Amino acid sequence: MAAVVMDGKALAARMKEEVRLRVERMERKPGLAVVLVGEDPAALSYEAGKGRDCRQCGIYYDTFRLPGDTTRGELLDVIQLLNGREDIDGILLLLPLPGHLSQREAVLAIRPDKDVDCVHPANMGKLMMGTGSLRPCTPAGVMRLLEEYRIDPAGKRCVVVGRSNIVGKPQAMLLLQKHGTVTVCHTRTPDLGEECRRADILVCAAGRPGLITGDMVKEGAAVIDVSINQDGHGGLCGDVDYAAAVEKAAYITPVPGGVGPVTRSILMENTLSAALRHGKK
Ligand code: NAD
Repeated sequence: MAAVVMDGKALAARMKEEVRLRVERMERKPGLAVVLVGEDPAALSYEAGKGRDCRQCGIYYDTFRLPGDTTRGELLDVIQLLNGREDIDGILLLLPLPGHLSQREAVLAIRPDKDVDCVHPANMGKLMMGTGSLRPCTPAGVMRLLEEYRIDPAGKRCVVVGRSNIVGKPQAMLLLQKHGTVTVCHTRTPDLGEECRRADILVCAAGRPGLITGDMVKEGAAVIDVSINQDGHGGLCGDVDYAAAVEKAAYITPVPGGVGPVTRSILMENTLSAALRHGKK
C-alpha cells in the first residue's frame, strides 16, 4: 500500500494562522530582520518568502540587503544595530556569507535571545542539553511533522543522513530527546544502504538527488526528505527516489511541500516566542 503523504503545506498554513491569531492580540508586534549579503538569486527569493510569511502573520519585517563586497565592519555594524533595536526580536542572517566574511564571527555577533535560527553556539549548547527555547527551524519542522502524524520516535531506530550544523546534528539531538535510537550517517559511512534499511524513521538531508533508492527504505518506515535539490528539469526534488519509496514507506514527505513550509512556520513561531520573552504583550 502506498505511503501516507505528509502534507507540510497544510500544517504550515495552520501554524501560521495560530501565530497570526496570537500576534493580532498583541499591542507591540514581534519583529524579524533578515540580513542578506550578496545577490544570490536563491537567497533573494528565500528572503522574499520570509517577508510574505511575516506579512501573513502580522509580524513586523525589515530586510537588509547588503552588497556582495560588504566589509566585516559593515556587517557587524548592521548586526549590532539590530541587536539594539527594540522593534526587532529575531535576526536571521542568511548563510553562507561571501568568502571574505567570517560566518563564525557574524553568527557570534547575534544576540542569542534574537537568534531565531538557532545558529549561535550558546543556543546550540542549550539544544544539546535540552534546555533551549529557540529551536533550529528545519529539524524542529521535522519534529513537528512527526508529531502531526503521531509518529513517536521513542524506542524507534532513527537514521539521519547528513551531519551539518544546521540540519543533521541538531536533528539527531531532537530525535534523541524524544527517545529515539539515533544513527547519523555521512560521506564516510561505509554502507549507507544497510544503515538506512534499519530505519523506522529516516531523515535525509544530504543534498544529493537520488541518494536514497527504494531498496534502502524499510517496509513501513517514515521517510522525511529535508533536501531541496534542482531536479535537472527546472523543478525541485529531495534525496529520496520518491516513486520507489512511496510504495514501501508508511509515511513520506514530498519535495516540495513537505519539510520546507513547516520550517518557515517554525521561524514565525520562534519570532513570536522571542517577542514574548522580550516582554511584548
Ligand atoms: P550540507 O551540504 O551542509 O550537509 C550535507 C551533509 O550530507 C554532510 O554532512 C555530508 O556528510 C552528508 N552527505 C553528502 N553526501 C552524502 C552521501 N553521498 N552519503 C552520505 N552522506 C552524505 O547541507 P545542509 O545545509 O545540511 O542541507 C542539506 C539539504 O537540506 C540541502 O539539500 C538543503 O537545500 C536542504 N535544506 C532544506 C531545508 C528545509 O527547510 N527543507 C533547510 C535547510 C537545508
